[in-house]
Amino acid sequence: MNKILILFICVLSCFINSAQSLTLPQLTAQINGKVISQSSPDFNNARFGYNYRYNRVPQIIVQPLDTASVVLALEYAQTNNLLVSVKSGGHSAIAEGVQDLRVVIDVSQMKQISYDPVSNIITTQSGNKWVEVYNYTINQHQVATPGGSCPSVSVGGLTLGGGANDLSTVHGLATDNVVELEVVLANRSVVIANEQTNVDLFWALRGGGHGGFGIVTLFKFRAHPVLPTYYSAWITYAWSDFEDVLTYVNTFSETMPNTVNLYFTAWRSSNATNPSVALSCFFNGPSQLGESHCGSFRNFSGSKRNTYITPVTISVTNASYYETVKNGTDPKARSSYTSGSFLTGIDKKVIKNIKTQLEKSPVTPYTFNTARLNLYWQGGQMLNQARDYNAYVHRTYPWNAVWLVSYTGGEFEEPYRKWIKQTYRKFESFSEGVYQNYPDENNLDNWAEAYYMENYPKLQVVKATYDPNNYFRFAQSIGSPSLSS
Ligand SMILES: Cc1cc2nc3c(=O)[nH]c(=O)nc-3n(C[C@H](O)[C@H](O)[C@H](O)COP(=O)(O)OP(=O)(O)OC[C@H]3O[C@@H](n4cnc5c(N)ncnc54)[C@H](O)[C@@H]3O)c2cc1C
Repeated sequence: MNKILILFICVLSCFINSAQSLTLPQLTAQINGKVISQSSPDFNNARFGYNYRYNRVPQIIVQPLDTASVVLALEYAQTNNLLVSVKSGGHSAIAEGVQDLRVVIDVSQMKQISYDPVSNIITTQSGNKWVEVYNYTINQHQVATPGGSCPSVSVGGLTLGGGANDLSTVHGLATDNVVELEVVLANRSVVIANEQTNVDLFWALRGGGHGGFGIVTLFKFRAHPVLPTYYSAWITYAWSDFEDVLTYVNTFSETMPNTVNLYFTAWRSSNATNPSVALSCFFNGPSQLGESHCGSFRNFSGSKRNTYITPVTISVTNASYYETVKNGTDPKARSSYTSGSFLTGIDKKVIKNIKTQLEKSPVTPYTFNTARLNLYWQGGQMLNQARDYNAYVHRTYPWNAVWLVSYTGGEFEEPYRKWIKQTYRKFESFSEGVYQNYPDENNLDNWAEAYYMENYPKLQVVKATYDPNNYFRFAQSIGSPSLSS
């Protein structure tokens, strides 16, 4: 009797479930956007992002064009007992936006954008790339907000994790300029988050937004006026001057005004005997004054008495910020490992270690294989907020050191992986915190501590409030276990 009753309940519940589930034909018919199935010719292109090391095969990829269609895609997933992952520009170093067997909600085609000169607010859907944002705001309205410095990185992921470019030393992080977000929650409601409404969610999404709180569909940013052109110098030096150059760059950074931004990089490509070293000096002010701020990099004292360091090459551009981003790095079809941390200082020992580590990087015959250190200056206005102003906690140390290997030859995967792991370990004691926009699952024992530090407990509370069943879950979502926990 009991068995019959149980069977009856099972059949009934299956019937109710299937009656309620949104079918694929229904999704396809109702959606404003595109449904890309595994058999579609677009599937391969849509499932790969920046890092080709991840070869994941989702169940289906949905590309909505509006918020209602994001809700519909979520309904399809939930009523068919599937999980989702969310992708905007696909630049995640660990490809969090595309997961095996899930429904990928790919918002990359959501590109509506507007600017209101009265409120001075830029409103954009999540899918715009930063070059598209600047093409609209700079070329049509002579305003901008801090965002990405490479053309293909997108509003969605970059802003939710922080977001820094040359405009940030004066205007702060992209996320610090957000005034409102529209979010689709796990219960399929659409909510607004700002300083008055859902304040805790607003706090969490600005810096912790990759953590699985919901799908952000719309961003409102504070706008700032831009100048027609900006001065930027790209300077290369001899490898033998590495230590003097980095020492000078660090000393210079200690007293430079917020209007100057620096990016220091050193790398070994394929089988080059020595690594290369270069610096970008950007001036956020009238172009003609750029040289008076960055000019000293043309000639400065070395460590040995009466020695002067001069560049191998120097190339100065005076260009609109839209042109600068349009011509930024746009990496294609490479596998990679990324590992970074904020350096607590750049002293002689750190400089020596960086040099040695680059000299020990693998030598390969492949032209596109590169091992690199990027030192991004994340000072000025980026540090000018309390550590709990929003979920972005890294407000103490300005130098963000990001180690990166990118390669095409598969046999170099293991030597590169080992090298970057060893590098990460070497700099652990000189570092504090990891920028969540360069996520790392190869080296971090405790990603929650590294990305969010003392803000993590509050993020867990917000997560439990807005996604109580932990529907938006993946390897590094808030509440997922770290290796050491
Ligand atoms: C070539 C390159 C250049 C870069 N340049 C910069 C730079 O100048 N400044 C800087 O600060 N960082 C930069 N980064 C790092 C960049 O900020 C991160 O990779 C960022 O997360 C990418 O965002 P995305 O939307 O392109 O990527 P995605 O892979 O689509 O998203 C990254 C993460 O955000 C989540 N996510 C994306 N969209 C949404 C959404 N709408 N709602 C909820 N969650 C979402 C995803 O699930 C994923 O976990 C760069 C990275 C690369 C590879």
